[in-house]
Amino acid sequence: MLPEIEKLLVIQDRDRKIRTLKQELKFAPLERKELDEKQAEAVKKLEAVKLKAKETEVERKKLENEAQAKRDSIAKFQTQKFQTRKNEEFQALNNEIKRFEGEIQVIEDRELELMDTAEKTKGQIADTEKETQAVKSQVARQLTDIAAKIEAVEGQLKELEAERATLAEAVDEDLLDTFNSLFATKTEAVVALEHGVCMGCHMTLTTQTMVRVKGNREIVHCEQCGRILYPGE
Ligand SMILES: [Zn+2]
Repeated sequence: MLPEIEKLLVIQDRDRKIRTLKQELKFAPLERKELDEKQAEAVKKLEAVKLKAKETEVERKKLENEAQAKRDSIAKFQTQKFQTRKNEEFQALNNEIKRFEGEIQVIEDRELELMDTAEKTKGQIADTEKETQAVKSQVARQLTDIAAKIEAVEGQLKELEAERATLAEAVDEDLLDTFNSLFATKTEAVVALEHGVCMGCHMTLTTQTMVRVKGNREIVHCEQCGRILYPGE
């Protein structure tokens, strides 16, 4: 094999690795974003349950005040009842008292319901808090893993890129330019010619091209795709 081709194959191998590592780095922000969203989702769920508890408490307080106001009114009516001498007014006050008592009953029933809800919500909060904490720990662990992976990949990349630069110095500049543009556009720049077929584009090449490749004396390009060829089988 031509020494230039051998050098290019080593460079191509490093370039492939570099490309894979860069791809991994590109995915890291997406992985992070996904984890952030997962955590935000858990926190949101917890906040929703807490809000429900708060709303229940606010409604219960409001009802409590309403009931108290009605009890105060009843007390006032009771006093008025014993002060009046008019039978009609006495009866009217009695009716009002009865009506208020009925309303208080309704309020108190609703208060009991709310207390029941509050008790259930308390349990939900405890469960959701546990869930959220688990998600947070899991996300934190995964973020640490990602950070460690990025650091490792960046280290590997640095090494590979330094090695690649040294390897490239030993290759003719024009040939390297050709290699670079082929690698960038066609994924592979240097491919084998096997049984007359270019392993890049899988086209059968002319006998003349095959002979030139096997001759190992010059750089030969595939007449179909332009990739640099080396003799395979
Ligand atoms: Zn080809």
